[in-house]
Amino acid sequence: NQDEGKLNEYMDELEFLAHTAGAEVFKRFTQKLDQPNSRTFVGRGKLEEINMYAKENEIDTIIFDDELTPSQLKNIEKELDRKIIDRTNLILDIFAQRAETSYARTQVELAQYEYLLPRLTRMWTHLERQKGGIGLRGPGETEIETDRRIIRDRISLLKEKLKSIDKQMSTQRNNRGKLVRVAWVGYTNVGKSTLMNVLSKSDVFAENKLFATLDTTVRKVVIGNLPFLLTDTVGFIRKLPTQLVESFKSTLDEVRESDLLIHVVDISHPSFEDHIHSVNTILAEIGAADKPMIMVFNKIDNFSYERKDEDDLTPITKRNYSLEDWKKTWMAKSKYPSVFISALTKENYEELKKIIYNQVKDIHTQRFPYND
Ligand code: GDP
Repeated sequence: NQDEGKLNEYMDELEFLAHTAGAEVFKRFTQKLDQPNSRTFVGRGKLEEINMYAKENEIDTIIFDDELTPSQLKNIEKELDRKIIDRTNLILDIFAQRAETSYARTQVELAQYEYLLPRLTRMWTHLERQKGGIGLRGPGETEIETDRRIIRDRISLLKEKLKSIDKQMSTQRNNRGKLVRVAWVGYTNVGKSTLMNVLSKSDVFAENKLFATLDTTVRKVVIGNLPFLLTDTVGFIRKLPTQLVESFKSTLDEVRESDLLIHVVDISHPSFEDHIHSVNTILAEIGAADKPMIMVFNKIDNFSYERKDEDDLTPITKRNYSLEDWKKTWMAKSKYPSVFISALTKENYEELKKIIYNQVKDIHTQRFPYND
């Protein structure tokens, strides 16, 4: 069943995220609903099932694969009496753990407060539960109001701080001169950092976890006497919290202001088509959809074809695709130049270099028409 396969992949990804955040996952619960329950996201029976399991197995945290509304969060918390984390909160948490520069930390902190602000009533629920909920309405509410004010002030402060850093960074970008700027884009964990390392012979942090890259790294790279700037950016992901898209302005500006995008795809991932779609959606959101692009289909060493349903007429079911096989697929026929490679075994790496060189050279020649 195709739906079920998709569901499993989503849960795999969520588990991977949870693992990256430092959690150990014991059990998955799924439910098919036309739309999420407005009160508790999942239905009453499912919630009871989760509750039972959590009690029996001393589970302390329950993670939902979607952003919960403030009231859903409050209701679920009341029912389950455990720490409830939604997808947005989980992603923010990972970003917070991995933010290294003060810029990244400021961005994540801002996103976290913006997430928290409409959810502050939670504390009120706790107060109510602790103290019986009678007669405390006055002071409790005042307390929330105070907390809200403090957080609002903090948000304004962080926004000011970001504005001045953004300005600085924009000046820095302008000072980089007219070299052609190339940015990696792609879903998280597809191999962008690895490729950046291979191309620039540097040691950018690469590991098999989500979002290893938080801050942008800009490197000058030369292929065949042609210098250009290469930027690594944050990995995109399905349902990237909007709070993050906003606060990562400068990071995303690197993408917006680049001349050429290299869209890396992990072709060994069963949902790679969805990933391409997610990345393109975010690119459109930040106004970078019309840029010249190169499609890099990575991890061909790890690819194996699996039939997804019975109507599948794909003739090739062997494990090792040759370059000729790849060239016959729809991926080779997109409107963008495409290349099939393995960053690990360096297969077809020369072709990647050639394609980048050609694209950069085109832009370079337009920019400096009087040079050789
Ligand atoms: P990023 O999140 O897009 O920057 O991805 P990374 O560069 O951190 O790579 C994520 C994981 O994929 C790491 O464990 C890499 O070693 C692995 N990886 C990268 N390229 C390849 C490849 O061509 N083949 C295989 N099998 N693994 C790869």
